[in-house]
Amino acid sequence: MSISSSKQHHPVDLTINRSASTLEIEWVDGHKSCYRLAWVRKVCPCASCLDERRQAESDPLRLMSGPLPSAVVEDAEFVGNYAVRFTWADGHANGIYGFANLRASCPCSECNQSEPDALLSAS
Ligand SMILES: [Zn+2]
Ligand SMILES: [Zn+2]
Repeated sequence: MSISSSKQHHPVDLTINRSASTLEIEWVDGHKSCYRLAWVRKVCPCASCLDERRQAESDPLRLMSGPLPSAVVEDAEFVGNYAVRFTWADGHANGIYGFANLRASCPCSECNQSEPDALLSAS
């Protein structure tokens, strides 16, 4: 039986581990990824967060000007069969995380050695 490459990027199990503050995904091919929720929030791919990060890069002091965004997930819902959307405790819910991007950004030593700075696109 062969599994098409797009299906490899599909989770069979997605768990928000509130006590460890992690997002755990088990993929169709059996690989398991564990992301820190603080990282998931940090790399939020929505337009306003991307913009915020671009501005922070040009003015590093901005990073310290406000409270850190919430890394507590209130809710998670699938978007079609290709992505997941999180609602954070501070109400932010614009980021749509493609499964392929999450899989490409897996922080395990096999995939990326460590956490990438941003959501990676699938090759
Ligand atoms: Zn965002
Ligand atoms: Zn991995």
